[in-house]
Amino acid sequence: MPIPFAEAHSHQASLVAADLGSHPEQGLSDLEAKQRLLSYGANALEAGGGPPVWRRFLGQFHDPLLYTLLVVGAIKLLLHEPGEALVIWSVTLINATIGYIQESKAETAIAALARSVRTEVEVVREGRRQRLVSEQLVPGDLVCLEAGNKVPADLRLLQTRNLQLDESSLTGESLPAAKNSEAVAAASPLAERVGMAYAGCFVSGGQGQGVVVATGATTEVGQISDSLQKQVNLSTPLTRKIRRFSQTLLHVVLVLAGLTFLVGILRGRGAAEMFDGAVALAVGAIPEELPAIVTITLAIGVNRMALRNAIIRKLPAVEALGSTTVICSDKTGTLTQNRMTVQEIYAGGALVPLEALGPGNEAAANVAVHETLLAGLLCNDARPSQRDGLVGDPTETALLQAAQTAGLDRQLALEAHPRRDAIPFESEQQYMATLHGGNRILIKGSAEAVLARCSRQLRPDGQAEPLDVVAIEAAVTAMAVRGQRVLAFAIGSSGNQAQQLHPELVEGGLDFLGLQGMIDPPRPEAVAAVAACQQAGVTVKMITGDHLETARTIALQLGLGKNGRVRAIEGRDLDQRSDDELSQIARDSDVFARVAPAQKLALVRALQRQGEVVAMTGDGVNDAPALKQADIGIAMGRGGTEVAREAADMLLTDDNFATIEAAVEEGRVVYLNLRKALAFVLPVNGSASMTILLGAVLGLELPVTALQVLWLNMVCSLSLSVPLAFEPRPPGLMRQPPRPPAQPLLNRGLVRKVLLVSVFYWCFIFGVFLWARSHGSNLAQARTMAIQALVLAQIAYLVSISQASKMGWRHWHQSPWLAAGIALAVVLQLSFSQLGWMNRFFATAPLEPQQWLVCGIALLVMVPVAWLAERLDS
Ligand code: ADP
Ligand code: MG
Repeated sequence: MPIPFAEAHSHQASLVAADLGSHPEQGLSDLEAKQRLLSYGANALEAGGGPPVWRRFLGQFHDPLLYTLLVVGAIKLLLHEPGEALVIWSVTLINATIGYIQESKAETAIAALARSVRTEVEVVREGRRQRLVSEQLVPGDLVCLEAGNKVPADLRLLQTRNLQLDESSLTGESLPAAKNSEAVAAASPLAERVGMAYAGCFVSGGQGQGVVVATGATTEVGQISDSLQKQVNLSTPLTRKIRRFSQTLLHVVLVLAGLTFLVGILRGRGAAEMFDGAVALAVGAIPEELPAIVTITLAIGVNRMALRNAIIRKLPAVEALGSTTVICSDKTGTLTQNRMTVQEIYAGGALVPLEALGPGNEAAANVAVHETLLAGLLCNDARPSQRDGLVGDPTETALLQAAQTAGLDRQLALEAHPRRDAIPFESEQQYMATLHGGNRILIKGSAEAVLARCSRQLRPDGQAEPLDVVAIEAAVTAMAVRGQRVLAFAIGSSGNQAQQLHPELVEGGLDFLGLQGMIDPPRPEAVAAVAACQQAGVTVKMITGDHLETARTIALQLGLGKNGRVRAIEGRDLDQRSDDELSQIARDSDVFARVAPAQKLALVRALQRQGEVVAMTGDGVNDAPALKQADIGIAMGRGGTEVAREAADMLLTDDNFATIEAAVEEGRVVYLNLRKALAFVLPVNGSASMTILLGAVLGLELPVTALQVLWLNMVCSLSLSVPLAFEPRPPGLMRQPPRPPAQPLLNRGLVRKVLLVSVFYWCFIFGVFLWARSHGSNLAQARTMAIQALVLAQIAYLVSISQASKMGWRHWHQSPWLAAGIALAVVLQLSFSQLGWMNRFFATAPLEPQQWLVCGIALLVMVPVAWLAERLDS
């Protein structure tokens, strides 16, 4: 009887594999895997989920102002004004619809981006290791796990080696769980099933191999329906702040509206009229469209960043990017090309350039050189592949390449010294070791890590002599100063017939073989991006596990530091420092070498204590805390571990430093556009409230009705403020310093600008209204004129805010949204006053040419006022 996958933990691993028709070493055949993919489906969780559309649409009405309007509509109905009730309700409906469309567009865009990052897994099929996209996994596949992986499906573990899983997503247990391949009782809870690795957990250490028992929706996580809902969180510090602001405003406004109503009544005005005035005040004073505008502006920023290879995983990062003051970047692969080539070999006391090696060359007679190259070939996980040449870690492909250049053959070498076991490279340990037939142990790693384990060294004739640490260290430094990444090699013996390699076996007593130095040139784009960051007042710091001198040389080539001076420090010098010392060092150093993950975390904290906004890259298993602590944690879309990717706020699809700089620039554009939106929207609210308040207090006729204010709001938010979110990137944005992190979005300059424009809007409304009334216009005409004057002034102001006016008229085509928005506003306003049914709905009236001309004065006056407002803001 087949084993149900839900009971896989209680059966022997090999039986489970056999039951699934999988060979414990060969895995499935390609053909079988293809067929299973068809019958089981892709290994993916259905995204989406979440509340249904209608619930989310109704959610848009969950807003005190909208409640108020719905009630107002009902009151109008009771007052026998069904037409007005209908209009109020339909305008609220349209407003909610716009909000809904904007938010769901933002949401789908962000969700799609997050999904576009694919996870790859190592599987064995037909006895060959290969990398697959995790969606293609099928039950029966053999999956290899290593530190930093996310478990791609539910696995029954066949082999493990110090395997540790972070199962917190499934069991809530935050400590890593040790795994082995043992079976447990069928009734054991998830947390006790040591022989299983469940999808969604992370490998925090060690290695393992397991057979897939369940994929996609049949996995344990797949069955927890909550985790299926990949809902995007659209709330950010800024949107929350703005919501709070609107809410406070609402309370103030409701009180004011009540007062307006009372004062009006006391002055002997009709209750119906004053009710209308109070409603108009409530509608006019609250910038209810702001949260939607902020969201759409952020979402547009996310899209623009994606076009420049930066994938945002968490929306608040968009805001933080614009105010970034320090970028701490990895060296290898981000600032450099990650294309390594071995230049020099130091062995047997001689320094040999790689070109000098090759079949028939006499340098090859140096046994130490030969052994160093052979060690580089054997203690190596890179491998040739038919399709892509050499695949693997660039450090290792470089070593493979060097050995082949010198005439060594990988196949023959592996046959002569078959590999039995290995300890994989980990940044913290800085070495990798392999065990081969004939008890040969090979180790490679940083000079420090390897030399600490050696007591003798190899002479050119192959004999061992006492270790000359001073000479070797001098050679290491000399190579590092030339910008080379240095790897040291050593050999040892396991003595007995050991089948497994344990760290104790490479603790000491090894023979030093030699060094290989490789170069990894800086990316040219990174050099330009570093310069751009410096101009923009953003400090760039390099963080690396590499040697201090190597890092310093590369930093100089990249133009880090000031005046051609780079201050470099080693990670261990950060330990045991007081907070103050640490802050000082963090600020003053440009390069941090031989850094461990815990030191990265300390560094972020130290920088943040000084008020810096820190962007930090990370790719390792243990980088997650530093990435989470940083204001913007950045992981690599190609290289690096899934653990780091999961913790990050942003991914670089090209692993390139220049992309961080681009994202910072786009972040600044977002901030700028948000300010523009505020500067544009708030005066409308300000002037509307002033108009109605003063009108009521002074006992004047109201120049606008509640319905007309509603209409104004809609035209303004739909056609005039949305284009601001699409504003193009202004030139010279990266020649300004970052905005001070503590500076509020609504700073003093902006408040002044808003007040000035509000006052003028108010003058236009009242001025035009009073003029019309004293020149014989009826109430409907005068109100229509007041509104048209206001909208014309808004258009002039919008243009002055927009990039188009700053770049000159010839660049109009770069702002198609602006032109379209203005055109739409004009059409809407024309129909508002000239169409008969609009007149009936909104109590407006068609205007005569000379009346239009009077309204046009507002536009003309607004031009210098807008110019003045711009000066106030800068
Ligand atoms: P980074 O990624 O910042 O360059 P790493 O932590 O990868 O730093 O490397 C630190 C040191 O470890 C390197 O200087 C090198 O000596 C050594 N090293 C790097 N990769 C390997 C590897 N695959 N095997 C053994 N040692 C390595
Ligand atoms: Mg590395």
